[in-house]
Amino acid sequence: MTPAPDAARFADTLSRFVFEQAAVRGAVVSVDSSCREILACHRYPPALRRTLAELLAAAALLASTLKFNGALGVQLQGAGPVRLLVVECDAELNLRATAQWSGAADDLPAAASLATLAGDVAKSRLAITLDPRDGGPIYQGIVALEANSIAALIEHYLTRSEQIDSRMVLAVDDTRVRGLLLQRLPGAATADDATWQRASAQFDRISPTGLLAAAGVEALLRAHFRDDDLRLFTARPLRFRCRCSAEKVAHVLRMLGRTEVESILDEQGMVSVTCEFCNHQYTFVADDVRALFDSPAASGVAPPAGAPH
Ligand SMILES: [Zn+2]
Repeated sequence: MTPAPDAARFADTLSRFVFEQAAVRGAVVSVDSSCREILACHRYPPALRRTLAELLAAAALLASTLKFNGALGVQLQGAGPVRLLVVECDAELNLRATAQWSGAADDLPAAASLATLAGDVAKSRLAITLDPRDGGPIYQGIVALEANSIAALIEHYLTRSEQIDSRMVLAVDDTRVRGLLLQRLPGAATADDATWQRASAQFDRISPTGLLAAAGVEALLRAHFRDDDLRLFTARPLRFRCRCSAEKVAHVLRMLGRTEVESILDEQGMVSVTCEFCNHQYTFVADDVRALFDSPAASGVAPPAGAPH
């Protein structure tokens, strides 16, 4: 194996690797302090914390397979205690998450199954969204909730929708979530069959406990794929970073219109908007609201019909 200079650094990183002698690739992720920070934004019930953590690792692993400039979203849409779990990972590996759930979720054990969380499996689904953010079309892939783990659902999605043979394992404890993705590249030759089958069998021996205990990416890969020549790329840091901002909230308020915003101000003495992802509260008092609609920026929001952009 060709060691990357910072291969030993594992926490809050994503590392891609390829098999030198076969069209097989993979990625390893460890989401540590960023996972804890994201889960600390809201008082999530224990059962949701575990699933959200798994979705964070899954989103980062999926993002590792893409060359894109936008945001990748993974959503679990349920019809039971969980209504919606949303995780986003952008091209810079900035992660954030949010959830909507009913009181019933508070009483579920931490190890509650996906089916229990989602309630009615037939009415639930996992959606994977790619938002290119450059004005291009948003892509969405949907997978029915026909497996009982996030890793298995993503494997189904990649293998069936993307036609890429894939294996994924995710492991969560109180402090972190880790994941490993192994893929047989599209267009792989028949000669690669044996390598894929062997690698896949070796993959089956990776236990969640072993994944959580691994000292580093290189040690983990060497322990499980010792017969293969792997090239490990430099680990990329990932982090919790929300895309919300006072400017974006101001834009939403301007879109709402002066009359509506001033009526909220009259009623509540201020206008308060909370980001559903990071829980940051943006507050606008009377002077802020006046500035919103009287500032030069406000006039640029809704140009008269026919005005040049
Ligand atoms: Zn936010």
